[in-house]
Amino acid sequence: MTLDSTQPEPVSAPGAGPSAEGRRERGAPRERWQVELAEAVRDPGELCRLLGLDATVAAEARRAAGGFPLLVPRPFLERMAAGDPHDPLLRQVLPLGVELVSPPGWVADPLEEAAALAAPGLVKKYDGRALLLATGACAVHCRYCFRREFPYAGHGVSSAGTAAALAAIAADPSIREVILSGGDPLLLDDDRLTDLLGQLVAISTVTRIRIHTRLPVVLPSRVTRRLVALLADLPHPAVIVIHANHPAELGPDQAAAVRDLASSRAILLNQAVLLAGVNDTLPVLLGLSERLLAIGVLPYYLHLPDRVVGTAHFDVPEEKAVGLIDSLRQKLSGYGVPRLVREVPGEASKVTIA
Ligand SMILES: *Cc1c(COP(=O)(O)O)cnc(C)c1O
Ligand code: SF4
Repeated sequence: MTLDSTQPEPVSAPGAGPSAEGRRERGAPRERWQVELAEAVRDPGELCRLLGLDATVAAEARRAAGGFPLLVPRPFLERMAAGDPHDPLLRQVLPLGVELVSPPGWVADPLEEAAALAAPGLVKKYDGRALLLATGACAVHCRYCFRREFPYAGHGVSSAGTAAALAAIAADPSIREVILSGGDPLLLDDDRLTDLLGQLVAISTVTRIRIHTRLPVVLPSRVTRRLVALLADLPHPAVIVIHANHPAELGPDQAAAVRDLASSRAILLNQAVLLAGVNDTLPVLLGLSERLLAIGVLPYYLHLPDRVVGTAHFDVPEEKAVGLIDSLRQKLSGYGVPRLVREVPGEASKVTIA
């Protein structure tokens, strides 16, 4: 087990609706997103029952999950096609036997993030910006994620770690932009987020706050009125980078969440990972860009997958990736084409491939 706290806190009152917003005293009903998070699917058998898949799929998933167990919120599951073991959304979350065989070159920390820690919970690799690891927890476990191997607890990702990270940000005026990352920073509840954003805003040298989150996609109910108000209150527009890899991830609930975020005047971007068997075709990438633009999100990055153990089956050859981007450029407005990038340890920025 490497992610330190993937289990949400116990739910005291299942069924709490949006009306729970605004009264969050201890013992009060939790918000809908917290209930939905607690009800996320964790059992491969249940996943297969819900999707009408063969029990052998569940047996393999149980064997392959290792220290990074299945975790899928139901709003994401509802976007999958029933009965298709190769569904591109399912493929992102279903543990497969191939994860257990990793070729040489696929390692635990391909980005050498552990070496780039400027303080507990603070990763500073590039000039002007730093990543604050606000939590180790995610609402979904993406099989291709390098964070599956990241020892959050050992790197100060905790309340005490956040305090140390904030002190390091305040002491380094070169950090103009703070990127809330993790894990998923929007898993902090609104009280903790209010506190964290307040402390960041109080640091005069920080002029921009960016949030990297998959929640508007996998758990759109997280975009509460209180969250939107919190973002709208920032002295500058927030930059919110969501993470969708396939157009089917972006249904009406996701579009509504994005629209609510935009009402805070946040700048909305998407980062995707290029994944074999998920989105490594021209029609899917074209569909993703079109859908993002239709709901008001600009495609920002298309990442080549990081070479982390257990993820080699997602790899897409660089030449193929470049060909896909070249074709996209012919079919889409320039602003609809994401930058194809790879992260290379030691470089001064992400490396643009095309
Ligand atoms: C990706 C990343 C950033 C942000 O890079 P941008 O190119 O500005 O999006 C910052 N810090 C770290 C450690 C990163 O991995
Ligand atoms: S890709 Fe993002 S949401 Fe998915 S497991 Fe990794 S950090 Fe969490």
